[in-house]
Amino acid sequence: MPNRKNIFFFYKHTPEMEEKVSPLKELTAEHGFEVVHEVNEANIIVSVGGDNAFLQALRKTNFKDDCLYVGLNTEDIGFYTDFTLQEVDKMMTSMKNEQVEVRKYSTIEVKIDEETPYYCINECSIRSNVIKTLVIEVFIDNEHFETFRGDGMIVSTPTGSTAYNKSVRGAVVDPRLPSMQVSEIASINNNDYRTLGTSFLLSDTRTLKLEIVQDGNDHPIIGLDNEAMSIRHAKQLEIKVSPRQIKVLKLKNNSFWQKVQRKFL
Ligand code: NAP
Ligand code: MN
Repeated sequence: MPNRKNIFFFYKHTPEMEEKVSPLKELTAEHGFEVVHEVNEANIIVSVGGDNAFLQALRKTNFKDDCLYVGLNTEDIGFYTDFTLQEVDKMMTSMKNEQVEVRKYSTIEVKIDEETPYYCINECSIRSNVIKTLVIEVFIDNEHFETFRGDGMIVSTPTGSTAYNKSVRGAVVDPRLPSMQVSEIASINNNDYRTLGTSFLLSDTRTLKLEIVQDGNDHPIIGLDNEAMSIRHAKQLEIKVSPRQIKVLKLKNNSFWQKVQRKFL
C-alpha cells in the first residue's frame, strides 16, 4: 500500500505496554513505515491490546473512514483484533507488499438530543441506572411503534450482534446485511404494558427514535460500545445505519462466521 505510510499506535501508556510497543515501533520503521504522533497525520491506526482497546481506539480517533485500522491483540485474536504480537513481522510484510485484505465494518449513527452524531461499531445501549424501570416511546420512521417499560434497550450493528445483544437472546446477524437490531432488556409485559418482546431488525433505510419518558426516573445511562456517556438528562436518541464504514486489516481465513464458530461453538 504505497499511499499508506504513516502509522499511529493507540495503546494504554503504561510501562508494560510501552515495553511491548517500542519494539513494534522499531519494526515499523525497518519496514519503511513512519510512526506519527498525531492521529490526523496517520493513515494507518494500530490499536494494541484487546477488543476493548480496539473499541477505544475507534472512539478516541473519531471513527475515521479515511484510515486503515489494525487490531493487534496482546493475547489471542478477538472479534476486532485479527493479529497477535507474534505475527507483526508477517503483518508488516503483507502491508508493504499490498497483500492485505480489508474488511469493512458498518456502523450505526446515534444522535442524542439532535447533537452531533456519535458512531458505534458494536451497539448503543440505554439502561436505567436506578432500580425503577425506564419508559421509552419507540418510533420507527417517526411512527409510534410501542411503549417500552423495563431495564433498557440495545441497538446493535451486525458485528455487535455477537456481543451484548447476544446476551439478551438477540439473533446473530451476518455483517453483509446492512441493518441494525433492536433488543429489549427485561421488558415488563402485562395487561398494562405491551412490547413486541422479540428482537427485530431494521434496514438501513429506517430511522429509530427512542424518546425517554420523563417521569422522575429520567437518569438513563447511554452506552456507546464500551463507553458510557455522561449525559444525564437525554430526552431522545435517533439511531440509523450509517454510511460510514470502518476499514480494518483482515487475516485470511478469518471470516465472521469462522469467528462465531471459534468463539461460541
Ligand atoms: P468487557 O466488559 O471487557 O467485555 C465484554 C465481553 O464482550 C467480552 O467477553 C468481550 O470480548 C466481548 N465482546 C466485545 N465485543 C464483542 C463482539 N463484537 N462480539 C463478541 N463479543 C464481544 O468490555 P469490552 O471488551 O470493552 O467490550 C465492550 C462490549 O461489551 C460492549 O460493546 C457490549 O457489547 C459488551 N457488553 C456485554 C454485556 C453483556 O453481555 N451482558 C454487558 C455490557 C457490555 P473480549 O473478551 O475479547 O474483550
Ligand atoms: Mn474485554
